[in-house]
Amino acid sequence: MEQAEWAWAENAIRDLVVGLALFDAESRAVIWNPRAQTLTGWSAGQALGESAETLLARLATQSPTPDSVAARLRAAFAEPADCPIEVELATGDHPARVLSFEFFPLRGENANRIGTGLVLRDVTQERNADAMKSQLLSTVSHELRTPLASIKGFATTLLRQDVKWDEKTQREFLKIIEDETDRLTEIIDNLLDMSQIEAGALRVAREPLQLRSLIREVVDEMRMRTEAHYFVVDLPAELPLVLADSRRIRQVLQNLIGNAIKYSPRGQITIACQVADHHVIVSVADQGEGIPARYLTKIFERFFQVDGATTRRVGGSGLGLAIARSIVEAHNGKIWAQSEAGQGSTFYFTLPLVENDEAAK
Ligand code: ADP
Repeated sequence: MEQAEWAWAENAIRDLVVGLALFDAESRAVIWNPRAQTLTGWSAGQALGESAETLLARLATQSPTPDSVAARLRAAFAEPADCPIEVELATGDHPARVLSFEFFPLRGENANRIGTGLVLRDVTQERNADAMKSQLLSTVSHELRTPLASIKGFATTLLRQDVKWDEKTQREFLKIIEDETDRLTEIIDNLLDMSQIEAGALRVAREPLQLRSLIREVVDEMRMRTEAHYFVVDLPAELPLVLADSRRIRQVLQNLIGNAIKYSPRGQITIACQVADHHVIVSVADQGEGIPARYLTKIFERFFQVDGATTRRVGGSGLGLAIARSIVEAHNGKIWAQSEAGQGSTFYFTLPLVENDEAAK
């Protein structure tokens, strides 16, 4: 190759968006490009001249199962196959990542092997997306199946020709069918919202909003869902307008109050507002089982449920709070929870005041 062509090739290797390492016939590293440095945390100075055996074994120590990973990488190095190997690693300051290792033989003029190449890629995002998809599928199939089975069961029972149901029983069964249909709708709505959020397509239409009437409406509606709870609405005499999308904030309130009902067997549910400097803080408090301190932030992650058994019993998909958080954040607000074991939980979220937000523009 001419001098100029070499320079091109060198630049290409340097700027490659994947990690590239080349090993000579003695399996010593002769090329270690910048992306390989970022992905492994080792500079070219540290890697060049080292044997593949040493480098791969050292990388494997950052995986949860060093011995088997080192063995797999060694085997793939010796006999490069088409299929990349994916390894979970926690390198340097990075959180755990999934790296893909793809080895290929380097051949000389007469096709004899003169070394080995390695392409390194960070596939963490793809794997997270895959994990999210399979989680979604299993949630969907499980969560949809339960209400569906119940709808089918009660409809079949009502249709039996050999039994005559009295009117009260018929109404009871139809009521169950109605409730379960609502639950199905709610799960599907949540899934659609979540996929919109994932796609970065959650739109909020913010307008001046009177929280007082919205809170009263939602509380009246939620009251119908429970006989075991009583509601206290504690609003200041002066409640300034907030800048918010009423449909979306209704959804947040429904979720928080719905959770307060689901996760407290009985007792008081308090919905309150406090006016601060530039925003209103809305809170929803229950007297339920509470949430262990270590989960107070995790519950806002999608699919996270503190106790699978309880949530399955009360019906939940683990999406409600993740959606609530996205909605509140799309309003430039914050959402958080406080709780003490056995003392109930309080959820808070903030919404900007109209004047303040307008003035900030
Ligand atoms: P889910 O559909 O499971 O209710 P959420 O995202 O709304 O999903 O809530 C996530 C988890 O947070 C719930 O499964 C539950 O474990 C916990 N949680 C939410 N609200 C409360 C509450 N008021 N009291 C106790 N635990 C709660």
